[in-house]
Amino acid sequence: MRLYRREGHEVACVVRQTFTEAGSQQEISMTSHSRRAFLKMSAAGAALRFVTPAAFTSLLAGADERGSERIVPFPLSAVRLGSGIFAEQAEMNARYLDSLTTDRLLHSFRLTAGITSSAKPYGGWETPTTELRGHFNGGHYLSAVALASATAGNSVLKARGDEVVGGLAQCQQKNGNGYVSAFPTALFEHLQEGKPVWAPFYTYHKIMAGLLDMYVLTGNTDALKVAEGMAQWVNGYFEGISDEQRQRMLRTEYGGMNESLVNLAALTKKQQYLDTAKLFEQPSILDPLAARRDELKGLHANTNVPKMIGAARMYEVTGDRRYRRIAEYFLEEVLTARSYAIGNTSLDEHWTTPAGELKGSLGWTNAECCVAYNLMKLERLVFGWTGDARWMDAYERAMFNCRLGTQNAQGLKQYFFPLAAGYWRAYHSPEDSFWCCTGTGVEEFAKFTDTIYFRRGGDVYVNQFIASTLDWKEEGLKIEQSTKFPHEQGTTLKITSAPAKMRTVHVRIPAWTTAAAEVKVNGRPLEAVADPGSYLAIRRVWRDGDTISLSLPMELRTEPLDGDDSVLAALYGPLLLAADLGAGPVDGPSKIISGRGTVPEGLPKPDALPKAAGANWVTAESAGELRFKGAAESGSLDVLPMYEVKDQKYAVYWQMGDGKKQS
Ligand SMILES: [Zn+2]
Repeated sequence: MRLYRREGHEVACVVRQTFTEAGSQQEISMTSHSRRAFLKMSAAGAALRFVTPAAFTSLLAGADERGSERIVPFPLSAVRLGSGIFAEQAEMNARYLDSLTTDRLLHSFRLTAGITSSAKPYGGWETPTTELRGHFNGGHYLSAVALASATAGNSVLKARGDEVVGGLAQCQQKNGNGYVSAFPTALFEHLQEGKPVWAPFYTYHKIMAGLLDMYVLTGNTDALKVAEGMAQWVNGYFEGISDEQRQRMLRTEYGGMNESLVNLAALTKKQQYLDTAKLFEQPSILDPLAARRDELKGLHANTNVPKMIGAARMYEVTGDRRYRRIAEYFLEEVLTARSYAIGNTSLDEHWTTPAGELKGSLGWTNAECCVAYNLMKLERLVFGWTGDARWMDAYERAMFNCRLGTQNAQGLKQYFFPLAAGYWRAYHSPEDSFWCCTGTGVEEFAKFTDTIYFRRGGDVYVNQFIASTLDWKEEGLKIEQSTKFPHEQGTTLKITSAPAKMRTVHVRIPAWTTAAAEVKVNGRPLEAVADPGSYLAIRRVWRDGDTISLSLPMELRTEPLDGDDSVLAALYGPLLLAADLGAGPVDGPSKIISGRGTVPEGLPKPDALPKAAGANWVTAESAGELRFKGAAESGSLDVLPMYEVKDQKYAVYWQMGDGKKQS
C-alpha cells in the first residue's frame, strides 16, 4: 500500500498491478468503498462564490467554480443514448410532451395576468380552480423540454419551451411586479394570514426551476430575466414579515425555493438572491440533521427532500460545510433506515415510523415517485463530493427499480409505488391529472444521460451501464459504451478518439457483483479488480480503439424489510425481483386515474404476502432473459425484474413462514 498522489490530493489506495504495454503506462489501482472525502474542500465560511459562465451548463447538476476538483457531470449535450430501453423510454416521454400544446399550458397564467385566453384548460391539478395550477404547465414542462432539448437535441420541444417562456414573460410584464403564476397573489396572502392554502411556493419553485433550466440548458436568456423578476417579487413579499411568522409560513410545502434561489445567485453573481434563498431555511428541520439526529418521523417526505437539495447547493456555492453535513446525514439516514428494496421511501407520503422500523408499512401508497426523483438528485450531488460508489449504487437501484417501469407506453407516469402484494401499477390520465409525479416523471425520463459519466480534471468516471456515447469536445475524447445491461452482465467501453495524454478512467464496480468480476483492457484481463462497491481506476495513455470490458456477474440475494426479518425481497444484481400474481386491470379507472385523485377508487385490500416455500425459494430459469421461478407454499410463481412488470399484479416482498432465509 502506498499513498497515491494525484493533482495535489493524496488518495489512499492499493496498487495491485503496474505494467508497461507497447509504450503505454498503465496502473491498476484498487480503491476501497470506505474511502471518503478525498477531495480537499475549503471550509471557508459562507461567502458567496460564483461560477463562471462556462460552468453554467453543469451548475444545476452540481458543479461550481471549483469543478476541476470535484467530480462533476458532463454537459448534457456531451452524452447521447445508444439504442436500448433507455432510449425507448425517453422517446415515449418525448411523445407525451409533444402531445401538449402551449396555449393550453399558458391558459391559467394568461387569465391570472388579465390576458384573454380561449384555450381549453388542462384538468386534474391544472384545472383553473386548483391551487397548484401552473406547477406542471409553467414549471415541470419547461424543465422537461429543456432537458429533452439538451439530452436528445429535440428542437421541436425546445421551440415549445421558448413559446412558453415568451408567454410567461408577457404575463410577467402585464402583472408589472415580477410575479408569475397561474393563480393570483391572493393565495400567497392566505399563506401570510395563516389561512388554509395548498402550496403556493411549491408551485412558484417549479416555475423558477423550469425557467432556469430553459436558460442553463437551452440558452434562453429571457427565461433568466423572468426568473430574476420572480425572485425579486419573493424578496418584496417577505418584507415586514417577522422571523416567527416566516417560520410558521414555511410549515407549508415550498419545494426547492432555496435551491432555485441559490442557483440564481450563482448564475447572476447577485448576493441578493442568496439572501432571499436563506429566507427559506427552517432551523426546526435543519438543526436536528446537522446534529445527526433523525427526527423525520411524522414529516412529509417530498416536502423535505428538495430542502436537502437546496442545502447541498448552498454548500457547493458558499462552501459552508454545515450544509454538507445536513445533506449527507439526511441521505444516509433515509437510504439506510427508511427505504424499501426499490430504493425509495415513505408511506402515505410521510415517514410514519421510527428509523429502521418499516414493519407493517406495505400498502398501495408507498414510495411516491417524486421522492425517488429528488433523492436521486441528492445522490448525484453527494457523489460529486466524495466519489463514494455507494451513492451511484443507490442511484442505479432507484433508476432500475422505481423509475424505469413507472411509465407506460403512452408516456403516462405512476404516482405511488405499491409494495403490498396483489397490487398493480396505475398511471395518470393524459390530460386530466398533471400530478407532481407527472412533472418529475417527464423530467426524469428526459435526462437518463445526466449521470452515466462524470469527470474530474481530465479523468472520466463511468457511473452507469447504459448504452451511450460520450463526446468530450474540450479533451478530444470520445467513448462509446455498448451494453444490453442488465440483460447482459457487464458492459464494453470503446475509446473512439483520444489525444495522447495520460488519464484515468474510473469504472464503478457495483456492490452487488461478485468476486468473479473481471475487467479486460484490449482483451487482456487485469489481475486486480476493485472490491465490489468501489471504483476501479485504470490509468494509462488511451489510444483510439482501446477497449475496456467489464464482466459483472449477478447473483441472487435477499434483503429484509427493515424491522422485520421475516419479510424478505429477492434481488438479482441491481434488480429487485417481483412475483407475477396474475393479470391486473389493463384499463379503466383502476389503471388510469383521472382528476385530482392519485389512488384508484374502490381499491381492494392487499393480498397476503406470498409465503416462501423453503430457504432457496427463488431460482434462476434464464439469466439472459432475466426470468426466475419462485416457490411459494401456494405453488410455483413466475418471477421477473420489477421494472419489467407492466399490467400484472405483483409482490416484491415474501413472508418467510418458517423463519428461514435464503442464503
Ligand atoms: Zn409526486
